[in-house]
Amino acid sequence: MSDTTDCIFCKIVRGDFGTEFVAESDNAVAFRDISPMAPTHVLVVPKRHVSSLQDLLPGNSALAGELLELASTVARLEGVADSGYRVVTNDGADGGQTIFHLHFHVLGGRRLNAGMG
Ligand code: AMP
Ligand code: ZN
Repeated sequence: MSDTTDCIFCKIVRGDFGTEFVAESDNAVAFRDISPMAPTHVLVVPKRHVSSLQDLLPGNSALAGELLELASTVARLEGVADSGYRVVTNDGADGGQTIFHLHFHVLGGRRLNAGMG
């Protein structure tokens, strides 16, 4: 779980690209997905490098809770808490993970497909 110099999300967390944070908590930040799939598409990531959900748990349930709490805060800030939204994390190859720094997608602002891919 060490910080990695070539991880793009570690760089974003460090502010290397001047990315605007939609929200922030002690151990997590939220920023807009560069290729949004919905009017609201925000990524919630831990500040320290954790590669995936499998790397987070067991043993880090407090951080897991903090990430979900920030996702819920993002939904409120984005104005989709009442209309509804989706929180998802992709883990590993079959899960479709492409960036190996844990992130929860917060998607909303349109009616999302019922299917799970
Ligand atoms: P996943 O496929 O779950 O690993 O999701 C990775 C997500 O990161 C994709 O939705 C990408 O569009 C998004 N992404 C990749 N590079 C950046 C970046 N520099 N800033 C914001 N989002 C990014
Ligand atoms: Zn990282």
